[in-house]
Amino acid sequence: MKTVHVNGPVPYPIHIGPGLLDDGQRLAARVRGRHLLLVSDTNVAPRYAARVRDALLGARPDLQIGQYLLPAGESSKTIEQFAAVIAALADLGASRDACVVALGGGVVGDLAGFAAACWMRGVDCVQLPTTLLSMVDSSVGGKTAVDIAQGKNLVGAFHPPRAVLADTGVLATLPLREVRAGLAEVIKYGALGDAAFFDWLGEHQRALLDGDADALAEAIARSCQHKADIVERDPLERGERALLNLGHTFGHAIETEQGYGHPDNDNLNHGEAVAVGMVLAAELSTRLGMAPAQDVQALRGLLAGFGLPVTVPAGLDPQALLARMRLDKKNIAGRLRLVLWRGIGQALVVPDVDEDQVLAVLRAACG
Ligand code: NAD
Ligand code: MG
Repeated sequence: MKTVHVNGPVPYPIHIGPGLLDDGQRLAARVRGRHLLLVSDTNVAPRYAARVRDALLGARPDLQIGQYLLPAGESSKTIEQFAAVIAALADLGASRDACVVALGGGVVGDLAGFAAACWMRGVDCVQLPTTLLSMVDSSVGGKTAVDIAQGKNLVGAFHPPRAVLADTGVLATLPLREVRAGLAEVIKYGALGDAAFFDWLGEHQRALLDGDADALAEAIARSCQHKADIVERDPLERGERALLNLGHTFGHAIETEQGYGHPDNDNLNHGEAVAVGMVLAAELSTRLGMAPAQDVQALRGLLAGFGLPVTVPAGLDPQALLARMRLDKKNIAGRLRLVLWRGIGQALVVPDVDEDQVLAVLRAACG
């Protein structure tokens, strides 16, 4: 097992390794009171919820465990589902020492984390991420949120988890498309701040896509360490943390404009949209004379090598995407503020980006 520590006002560990869902002692050690709400989704719960319950009750037979399941997919990350989780906490009679356990991908983690942030002004949350994306990104750092029709993640709170237990064994059942989506966020860490990691990913492409346990654990731990380092220095995103949004302003615009992804549609999921978004951010950087064109090529090559999309899906309108980007949380005083780069491993926040240049990149990308 590997452990990454996130320091700061509320320190917490990220444990990474196989079999953690069955480690009742470790799980129960994070539960202060008797009330526990397990939040999961309709794909994950049938596979893993019973294991978590059994492990917890084995260690703490006195626990009262409630359960709430959301329909799988981004379309569940809503205020309505948030209200339903809150109602489940109320039905459980959850007190202020209650614990919300999020068993699932980023959708479950973000929604359950937000409910934990709000119930009685904040109760503990333990994250049990089950997608690669949630292991390397969403379960770490304390950002929680739901989407609204106007945009992704626009309603939420900072609420760090008490612990993150990433059981890498569950990745065996994760569809390859979701593995790739997680790898997009892994590649993001290399692209934004670690050229050596970027190269390592290229060298280990086959192993990572084949589900090699050691390669995946290494990629997860290195990604979590990157995120932990940045989040420690800037927990509330006053500055440097924004770098973690490389590719996300473009990506969120695509996700919102397409309609959020769902297992039953072909819309890009979050990781895929971030892959395209990183390419657009890199292209814009080159257009602005900040970065060499060959680095865009290298990024595109690495993403495509992992089977990720690198072009904007057909049918999207550049003006509509730009309008979506204007609603991004990074913007200040109505000016577009984007994460761009000087090349591989050198991202930076650029305030007041010229909208005409963004539109030109979008026009070229939308064909
Ligand atoms: P997800 O939660 O929708 O999971 C993807 C799919 O995989 C779902 O259908 C899910 O049911 C299924 N699944 C999950 N684990 C499985 C397993 N082990 N075996 C089989 N199927 C499994 O999506 P995601 O990619 O994990 O997360 C995306 C969300 O995370 C987005 O809403 C994004 O905004 C959010 N996010 C948040 C942060 C943050 O800092 N809070 C960071 C990055 C992303
Ligand atoms: Mg992300």
